[in-house]
Amino acid sequence: MAQVTLPDPPPASGEGPLGLAFDNRFTRELPGDPSDEPHPRQVYGACYSHVSPRRCAAPRLVAHAREVAELLGLDETATASDRFAEVFSGNRVLPGMQPFAMCYGGHQFGHWAGQLGDGRAINLGQAIAPDGRRWMLQLKGAGRTPYARRADGLAVLRSSLREFLCSEAMHHLGVPTTRALSLVTTGETVLRDMFYDGHPRDEPGAVVCRVAPSFTRFGNFQIFAARGDHDTLRRLADYTLTHDFPHLGSPSPESYLAMFTEVCQRTAEMIVHWMRVGFVHGVMNTDNMSILGQTIDYGPYGWLEGFDPGWTPNTTDGEGRRYSFGAQPEIAQWNLAQLGNALHPLVDDLPGLQAAVDGYAEHYSTAWPEMMMAKLGLEGFEPGRDEALLGGLLEVLQLAETDMTLFFRRLADVPTTNEAGDEARLAPLRGAWYDPAALDGPIRPKVIEWLNAHASRVREVGVDDATRRERMHAVNPKYVLRNYLAQEAIDLAEQGDLSRVGELLELLRRPYDEQPDRDRFAAKRPEWARHRAGCSMLSCSS
Ligand code: AMP
Ligand code: MG
Repeated sequence: MAQVTLPDPPPASGEGPLGLAFDNRFTRELPGDPSDEPHPRQVYGACYSHVSPRRCAAPRLVAHAREVAELLGLDETATASDRFAEVFSGNRVLPGMQPFAMCYGGHQFGHWAGQLGDGRAINLGQAIAPDGRRWMLQLKGAGRTPYARRADGLAVLRSSLREFLCSEAMHHLGVPTTRALSLVTTGETVLRDMFYDGHPRDEPGAVVCRVAPSFTRFGNFQIFAARGDHDTLRRLADYTLTHDFPHLGSPSPESYLAMFTEVCQRTAEMIVHWMRVGFVHGVMNTDNMSILGQTIDYGPYGWLEGFDPGWTPNTTDGEGRRYSFGAQPEIAQWNLAQLGNALHPLVDDLPGLQAAVDGYAEHYSTAWPEMMMAKLGLEGFEPGRDEALLGGLLEVLQLAETDMTLFFRRLADVPTTNEAGDEARLAPLRGAWYDPAALDGPIRPKVIEWLNAHASRVREVGVDDATRRERMHAVNPKYVLRNYLAQEAIDLAEQGDLSRVGELLELLRRPYDEQPDRDRFAAKRPEWARHRAGCSMLSCSS
């Protein structure tokens, strides 16, 4: 691929245009691919390959996240400039940027897939923020790399919009995640067969700029271990330890193990958050797991509407349901075990690695009930006693289709006094059932029984209603990026109306706040969306 970027005028100060300063430690300190041939191939002994972003016809900024711009020290003038869209579409490489694609492998759906790598993600460089923090800027959809295999290196508006909005929504929900700076359309079309059913269509192309301290995945370590390339494995581990886990000391078998133990802990925390907000990642392959315990790679993800642990948004996984909502905790553990295997040549302490993976399970099984109790407005889980309350809850939520987000949000309004009658307890919750009449059928006594048990536990703790409501609202979001909301924004955007993207971004900045003028975005899934592509079913095609 030819270098087609235009030269920039020399910067006025020591910083590049847009006011961004770069220090590209990843490419400087780690071994790179000596070839800069862009064609797809196996790359050995290197953590990355130099690449050039592709030039697109007519970049246009659709949206940007001002908080992320602020993190980077980009002001309004910078984000409003033509240059911003030029740079974050890949059309212009700024001085100081050194675009590269990472080499990684991974287990896909439980099977080792060999080399994968950044097939369409192009890291521009590591920006140094005004506060000294370092952020990798990464374009997704800006062209092919040596890791693109047979694919085109591009991304469509549909999936880019979903990634842009969800990254930011997750951040504002308090879930560890990579961030998104910008969403740019390319002015070009991309051919996609959304359901791999022989009906491709031209879709608008787009590029998202993702931002994270590091995009290193479990698969970055796995590829070198799988190839027996322990030298590169060690160099990557040393780099990661030194820069991403600097508090763990200098490289040694012990500090590698400490790093792995911390990855296990951070991953547990992330998964507890996913389970709290009803997020289903959809493609938890080991190449989609961040070493920092951040949610990464928003593809065919989805949000639970009806509470169903077996639900997956990913049609590619429709049969096995490997990555369904309820399977996520176990899959994360399986993925961690693969990372542990990859680090084994460096750590050489199987019991230690096993203890770290076991630590994940212990952490999760302690943190999950605590989190669930918090969702119920109760502080702390009492073993030997609260199991019945939580077990009963999971049962009640599955008696008839019940909207997870609405149920927990509205539970805060359920009266808990002894005197409150059945109807008074049910009233605030009715709307959480997809068929509210179900509550007048056979499931009614079970729901009432559980609500009574919950109310009695609340009374026992003695927390007043206002405090409990406030606490519950702080962990039970009112607004999440419901599958149909994202799809409505996509439909509008594809017709040229980009206003909904901004509106949702604004809404999702404050997911725990009542926003009465935006109540419609808290509504349960409308019937039309139940079987609509993009709302309840997605594929990896993006
Ligand atoms: P994913 O399932 O999106 O995590 O992607 C798995 C692998 O396929 C990664 O190596 C991606 O970089 C690569 N990939 C996915 N889509 C494309 C594309 N359109 N062009 C090039 N590589 C891609
Ligand atoms: Mg991926």
